[in-house]
Amino acid sequence: MIFLAALIGFAFGHLVNLVFDRFFTGERLRGPLYECPACRSPIRLTALVPYGTVVLSGGRCPNCGEKLPWRAVILPAGAAGLFALSYVAFDELGAGLLGGFFATVFLTLTLTDLERRLLPNRIVYPSILLAVAFCWAWPDTSWVWILAGGAVAVGIAVLIYLFSLLFGPEAFGMGDVKMIVLIGFVVGFPAVIVAVLMGTIAAGIVAAVLVVTRLRGLRDYVAHGPFLAFGAIVALLASN
Ligand SMILES: [Zn+2]
Repeated sequence: MIFLAALIGFAFGHLVNLVFDRFFTGERLRGPLYECPACRSPIRLTALVPYGTVVLSGGRCPNCGEKLPWRAVILPAGAAGLFALSYVAFDELGAGLLGGFFATVFLTLTLTDLERRLLPNRIVYPSILLAVAFCWAWPDTSWVWILAGGAVAVGIAVLIYLFSLLFGPEAFGMGDVKMIVLIGFVVGFPAVIVAVLMGTIAAGIVAAVLVVTRLRGLRDYVAHGPFLAFGAIVALLASN
């Protein structure tokens, strides 16, 4: 069963990679899929197989020769791992797949934040709806705790946002606020507090290291998405 979960995750991660660019506001939803953000040439048949292009073309676009983004490798393998971990955490296929799905959503948000410094509404809003629709089904949870998680998340997000204004308008974006709300509806209460605390502590440690080693200045941009995603995945898989 764990292999089945991993296999489903592998295919799902590959699918997410193929439609990755469509997540961003302003990108056309219709039209042929493409793997290469540089030339946007339509995918060939081999691209439908996970790692097909990466293996056959040595990680480069068969059309223009540009390097394919790392997410082509990271997403299938990462999602497979997350689905397998989720299955182990929940010890049940249904909840395991649901957990794998939301963990992969957080992995995807990490990659959009790193690649374009965005946490797309096209991912966050539908995911909130899906979380409200399905996340009461976690073992030992009910819809009351999920809705409470969402409400607490709104409160936390607004507080962090107001606090961050002290450090300038760019310190903490609306994308981060919406992502915290999503986390609240996915993991519920009280796990949302664990998720945000862990994400904030991890972000603080990395930011401090970057500032001390002078790789970044105090006011430089540090993406929060990956750290929030880390906290969310840990809270999601550890709290059950
Ligand atoms: Zn290309």
